[in-house]
Amino acid sequence: MALAHVLGVPRIGPNRELKFAQEAYWRGDIDAAALQAVASGIRQASWRRQQAAGLDVVTVGDFALYDQMLNHVALLGCAPARFGFGGVIGLPEYFQLARGSADCHAMEMTKWFDTNYHYLVPELTADTHFSLGVEWLFDEVTEAQTAGFTPKPVLIGPLTFLYLAKEKTAGFNRLALLDRLLPVYAQILARLKTQGVEWVQIDEPILALDLASDWRVAFERAYHHLHAAGPKLMLASYFGPLRENLLVAMKLPVAGVHVDCVRGGDELAQVIDWLPAIKALSVGVIDGRNIWKTDLNAVLDRYEGLHQRLGDRLWIAPSCSLLHVPVSLANESGLDAELRRWLACADEKIAALATLKTALNAGRQAVAGELADNAGALAARRASSRVHNPAVAARLATLSDTHDVRNQPFGVRQGLQRARFRLPAFPTTTIGSFPQTTAIRHARARYRRGEISEADYSAAMQHEIAHAVDRQEALGIDVLVHGEAERNDMVEYFGEQLQGYAFSQHGWVQSYGSRCVKPPIIYGDVSRPHPMTVGWTRYAQSLTGKPMKGMLTGPVTMLQWSYVRDDQPRAATALQIALAIRDEVVDLEAAGIGMIQIDEPAYREGLPLRKADWPAYLDWASRVFRISAAGVADATQIHTHMCYSEFNDILPALAAMDADVITIETSRSDMELLRGFGDFAYPNEIGPGVYDIHSPRVPDTAEMTRLLEKAAQVITPENLWVNPDCGLKTRGWPETEAALANMVAAAHALRQKHDAQV
Ligand code: GLN
Ligand code: ZN
Repeated sequence: MALAHVLGVPRIGPNRELKFAQEAYWRGDIDAAALQAVASGIRQASWRRQQAAGLDVVTVGDFALYDQMLNHVALLGCAPARFGFGGVIGLPEYFQLARGSADCHAMEMTKWFDTNYHYLVPELTADTHFSLGVEWLFDEVTEAQTAGFTPKPVLIGPLTFLYLAKEKTAGFNRLALLDRLLPVYAQILARLKTQGVEWVQIDEPILALDLASDWRVAFERAYHHLHAAGPKLMLASYFGPLRENLLVAMKLPVAGVHVDCVRGGDELAQVIDWLPAIKALSVGVIDGRNIWKTDLNAVLDRYEGLHQRLGDRLWIAPSCSLLHVPVSLANESGLDAELRRWLACADEKIAALATLKTALNAGRQAVAGELADNAGALAARRASSRVHNPAVAARLATLSDTHDVRNQPFGVRQGLQRARFRLPAFPTTTIGSFPQTTAIRHARARYRRGEISEADYSAAMQHEIAHAVDRQEALGIDVLVHGEAERNDMVEYFGEQLQGYAFSQHGWVQSYGSRCVKPPIIYGDVSRPHPMTVGWTRYAQSLTGKPMKGMLTGPVTMLQWSYVRDDQPRAATALQIALAIRDEVVDLEAAGIGMIQIDEPAYREGLPLRKADWPAYLDWASRVFRISAAGVADATQIHTHMCYSEFNDILPALAAMDADVITIETSRSDMELLRGFGDFAYPNEIGPGVYDIHSPRVPDTAEMTRLLEKAAQVITPENLWVNPDCGLKTRGWPETEAALANMVAAAHALRQKHDAQV
């Protein structure tokens, strides 16, 4: 009898109930009891769904009122000391950690591995102590048992918890806290055992990362400490193959191991070789990171033999928690029936798991109808003319080695561009968006609802563009932008105009806290039927004699922030997008736009988890960027933009993109980027951001001048641009104008100084 379970499910609720309850609670509209009632309703519904599908256990502890790492901070009694809370906290304190308070800034947030989910980063110092904190996990176990479910609690493992935390004192290694942490984990496990829990899932996804040897060695110590402490442990790794950590994982004294067979399927034979005869093996066979139906017959072909060997030691599961996919297709009204048939969200993945379980245990004929339906859907997708566009294939076949190179090298282009634009030294510009005011959002909402005509909407947007141009002229900025008033989102705006992209109505996924995103779905060959930005940009250029920068989203970002096809490599999809962007770039140039920015904010987060996989990624990522850019004349200036810092380790790859100008976030880290310039001289022009756009604070001129002077020490002054860290869409106009005025003044100060020196 194969068993089935999930590692976790979405927690936002089918209609984002959690989001609305959280926000109502924060506003003071509902009390804690009402919030908890919504939370309990979401949990109970998820458990009912798992039980009804015939899963052998229901997962408990994957729920969180804000974030799972924050729940562990609360469980382990280690709220950062700077909040002054002590060991056991309540709900108000929990949310203060997440959102900050009048006198304490919130805990930092960062991306959970290579997903778009953000967790709160635990803060550790040499003085951090752990102790049993909140009772929430134990309460939820009781809640599940009372309702008649068999709970399998899930914990983030001690090593992953420490690894993902941040050291807040210098000269201290957080791994040193392991010995203090393990007894608390042992206590938690003992408590769960007294509650009658048989299995605990303990997540150690860092096993899919490059680990230094001290971390790898620590696994053995940790699990020797924990293996006898309580219930049976199912050690779960996911998000990638185990590689050199495989032996470490397989030899740990735990009762079962979960492996990600979607990303790490090649290792299965080795995993089985090393599986001791008493251990359970959970195989993650349904992709928890994407929204396509799984080929159930193919899974059965692969695992039926293994099931015969392992019997009830075989568990089947999705590859990772289903947190990263939308809840359900049930209410999906935004997608047509044909496309819908190819997709599976969390609910549909749980149903597929049930089908697989029955097929393994009772034979395929017991679910012949389901399997036939699944095979039919996959065959339809494979053959669909909406997926395969011969024109795209024909165009790809004509691509040559010269498609990704400009005509002349940067040195020559720079001379031509200087002669053409005659910009002052330290030219000033912005990153693209200006404040998205309520008026703008209002007009767009009304247009979408059909309450105003296209002509009225267009006039409203033109009005906004004219306002942005007027303000930039008044501020004395050198290179202008149109302000992106007409764009809701930098990926959606383009995706909606491209063939091969689809948009769901309710496909929400938690990004952090109450924030959810609705990623587009790339289902077919991508092409651009019509120009996407030319009209707005041409209009903006008509209002000014200064250069107007065209503004596009790059191929890597278009890929990274979407669900992508699983029937071809990511690089192949990115290449198709690159050609669509390239067409837009060429059309903008033909419309008289001399500078074009191709944003790639997601370029760095596309990096694979393992360093060994970086070169291959950087190779295709920089190539698709160059393909999107290289269709223009040498006097046309290509810009790119990136944010979220930490670029030192990929500077050569950024240079390989060969943009004429790169603007990049640096102010929050006090020009940390420039450290990398000691070893590597970035060859093209560069605008390190001189002020943080994430806060309404208006930095003064002296502060920005100081940052620029710092930059001018390592960047050739002739190559240095002056700009903010990122787009200004989340800011208001008053602070935007004040900050930009100071920024322009800083550029003037630098010019004067520079002139005096020459
Ligand atoms: N051009 C975009 C803007 O200014 C860039 C956004 C981003 O980097 N995330 O809004
Ligand atoms: Zn940015």
